[in-house]
Amino acid sequence: MTVITRFAPSPTGRLHVGNIRTALHNWLLAKKAKEQAGGRFLLRIDDTDAERSREEYVEAIRADLDWLGLIPDGEERQSERLALYDAAFEKLKAEGRVYPCYETAQELDLKRKIQLGRGLPPIYDRAALSLTDAERKAKEGEGIAPHWRFKLDHEEAISWDDGIRGVQKFDPAQLSDPVVRRADGSWLYMLPSAVDDVDMGVTDVLRGEDHVSNTAVQIQMFTALGAQHPRFAHEALLVGREGKLSKRLGSLGCDAFRERGIEPAAIVALLARLGTSQPVEPIADASVLVESFDLATFGRAPARFDDEELARVNTAIVHGLPFDAVANRLPSGMDEAAWLAIRPNVEVLDDVADWWSIVTGPVQAPAMEAEDQANLRQAAELLSTCGDDWKALTSALKEATGRKGKALFLPLRQALTGRDHGPDMASLLPLIGVDEAKARLERAAG
Ligand code: GLU
Repeated sequence: MTVITRFAPSPTGRLHVGNIRTALHNWLLAKKAKEQAGGRFLLRIDDTDAERSREEYVEAIRADLDWLGLIPDGEERQSERLALYDAAFEKLKAEGRVYPCYETAQELDLKRKIQLGRGLPPIYDRAALSLTDAERKAKEGEGIAPHWRFKLDHEEAISWDDGIRGVQKFDPAQLSDPVVRRADGSWLYMLPSAVDDVDMGVTDVLRGEDHVSNTAVQIQMFTALGAQHPRFAHEALLVGREGKLSKRLGSLGCDAFRERGIEPAAIVALLARLGTSQPVEPIADASVLVESFDLATFGRAPARFDDEELARVNTAIVHGLPFDAVANRLPSGMDEAAWLAIRPNVEVLDDVADWWSIVTGPVQAPAMEAEDQANLRQAAELLSTCGDDWKALTSALKEATGRKGKALFLPLRQALTGRDHGPDMASLLPLIGVDEAKARLERAAG
């Protein structure tokens, strides 16, 4: 059977690392199935809240997914599907599965306080269910429009085999009948989401564990809508390095990663494995991550997101990137040999430009001791016979001067690059070229 997953962000802000992770896992789940029996990863824009939803966020969500390489196989927008929700609502209303309520927010709050004060769980008392027709009419006569609750079936025990958490059981009597529609006719998230999952044929709902109790309620909604519920899996939340839910993570998104020079592949590699029993590895080939993706490896403990770990994964990925993958992001004139020479010295791709400048020059060598200057002069002369062969040059210079180790190599590196450290000189020298190298050695020789 084709696996259909969906990522359902509300366009009320930018994606953050937590929902990027959810999107990625849904993408991986669908991709893995694609290779077997077929899979689709859908983007569902949850924009029923017209006031808070913004078009610029819809566009940013698409752009971020695109940058990460998580390309949806289809997109739906809840704001264009309102007729479906109305139809489902009317059906549930006719069956008595949604009912009108007239309490104000203050009244509900007071009820909850009283229950809590008596040591009782703050479950909605269903007072609205015992209103008579006349009482309802009177309320509406006073201009009070109802909001609507879904009536949980207290006789229908709720359970599902969660793909990550195992068997989950809920007693519906211990849950409040959820409000599904506000007095102004607008929708809360729960019912439209269930309607969409049915209509879009979603087979697997993979989301954060903050949705576990919503799932309990939605399972009864699926039944009430006459549908089988999808498989559910709830992943442990992402926490900061210190092990706490952090505000910072809630606003850490693709722009910040891009600014730090983090490659999308590094984010994907880290988030694919974080919180699972599989090791985080610098895997740039997403198909390897797809292949190894397995909900059974997900743990129940919160996944810890660590910026430094991301930076390490990023650097390791950059060190393995072939020229073709980066060619259009390199300074002009840099060829494959230059990339391969410089690559091991960068942490992020943006560092390349700095290293490339030591090839193109000009370089500023430090002031040299007289003895070093004499050696550099000799090196400049040897260049004419050794060409750009670093090994030949340094062996000849060693023989001529008796110098070795740091005393031999450091002044050469400083004269040729203006730095104490850097890419392998044997690769750099041909990039600098014999004539330019000679000029640099002579300049440093004074
Ligand atoms: N829009 C909901 C959210 O962002 C979707 C949750 C779901 O995956 O069902 O929380």
